[in-house]
Amino acid sequence: MRFAIFSDVHANLEALEAVLEDAHEHHCTHFVCLGDVVGYNANPHECVKRVRDVDCPIVKGNHDEQASLIESSRDFNELAERAIQWTRDHLTAEDKMWLRDLRLQRAVRDFTIVHATLDTPARWGYVFNNLDAAASFTYQHTTVCFFGHTHIPMAFIRHDGVRRVSTELLRIETGKKYFINTGSVGQPRDGNWRAAYCIYDVENNIIEQRRVKYKVATAQNKIIKAGLPPLLAERLAIGR
Ligand code: ZN
Repeated sequence: MRFAIFSDVHANLEALEAVLEDAHEHHCTHFVCLGDVVGYNANPHECVKRVRDVDCPIVKGNHDEQASLIESSRDFNELAERAIQWTRDHLTAEDKMWLRDLRLQRAVRDFTIVHATLDTPARWGYVFNNLDAAASFTYQHTTVCFFGHTHIPMAFIRHDGVRRVSTELLRIETGKKYFINTGSVGQPRDGNWRAAYCIYDVENNIIEQRRVKYKVATAQNKIIKAGLPPLLAERLAIGR
């Protein structure tokens, strides 16, 4: 059983298709989405449809929530807000209903998935350091939990304290807990423009980080054509 675990697609259809293709090539049998299917990029409806077609377990992200509201709750910065207003106008009523009804956190097989944090998932806090991770670990009842939201791949282990480790290849050991950010498919922010996701090989207890090239120029052109802020196109090429 091999899970492809992906997060923060953010309406980037080119990146999503590239990740799904890579996952199939690497013999993934199951898929899991950590939320923020929409927001920022130019294909919100298409990405909702594609993720729904995959028919995988999914949790709600803050952009999914904002897109499904009639009016914003003033949580977003100006760039995100402009994009989310555009997004609302380009989703169907059914898309919004589907996004609105997503759960904040759930169990998949023997692991947990959440978009932001396990301690206060509805508050959309960010996990960047050991202290942030420690708060989530308090509420983590499974060995492994996957999260997203920061768009930066990182992993924390709790075993006699919490420490951050490299995400490239993780071997899951008994007696330890793992809180793992898969990075972002549609808007990476770690200085690497390639789409990020993880493969969880359950039988072999291995989690592997993958980066996938996609047609970034196509995604950028769509953003410009849609009249979305040009900065949203520029950042894709530099992974910021
Ligand atoms: Zn996001």
